[in-house]
Amino acid sequence: MTGESVRVRSAYVDMSAVMQIAMTAVMLTTGRANYPSCAPSIGVLPITVYNRSRMSGTELDAIVATADRLWRPYGVTISAGAPHGVAVIVGAEPPAAVSQSAAGPIVLGTTLFSDGHATPYIHLWVGAAEALITASDGDGRRYSALTSVERDAALLPVLGVALAHEIGHYLLDTPHHSRVGLLQTTLRFHDMRVPSPEHLPLTDQQQRVLCAKDFAGLGLRQ
Ligand SMILES: [Zn+2]
Repeated sequence: MTGESVRVRSAYVDMSAVMQIAMTAVMLTTGRANYPSCAPSIGVLPITVYNRSRMSGTELDAIVATADRLWRPYGVTISAGAPHGVAVIVGAEPPAAVSQSAAGPIVLGTTLFSDGHATPYIHLWVGAAEALITASDGDGRRYSALTSVERDAALLPVLGVALAHEIGHYLLDTPHHSRVGLLQTTLRFHDMRVPSPEHLPLTDQQQRVLCAKDFAGLGLRQ
């Protein structure tokens, strides 16, 4: 896996795969999502998690469970533990080439693109999730005042949304973002702390693209 990881870093990644703190109080008017009629026939997306962070196996399971919950309405089940699934590399800190300036957005995850197409290599950055929570100051309590267990628990839904977002880039085979929903550039912090499919949907257009995909080529099993 080490050699593959080097390639991931050296190749083009979804550098615009950025989630930043939405400090404004603007409410999204996504409403209740309309889920696609093709949903029951899509299938299982196997992923293989490579842990290079302090996260425990149980915590990694919780991250995957959040991503799974956000994709279930579209008929996609995210299943960890597969030996040759989509590689999800959970690291500590992003390399300098990925992390932005202090004033810039915080990159929580990246998806590798090659020749204009998404490849099955996703990175998540635990340190970036911590930076996001620290900058937002959580629910009014300083992150540093939390116990280590509370801190890690706070990271899980945020990283789960980041994983779901990157899986969106992979399944839809696009580095682009939408104005609203799961694939928006700027996600509301509350939607990352308390994620729900209703507040992080695919757009109608994204659902149409999803339904038209050749899922066998994406590693999805029926
Ligand atoms: Zn993105």
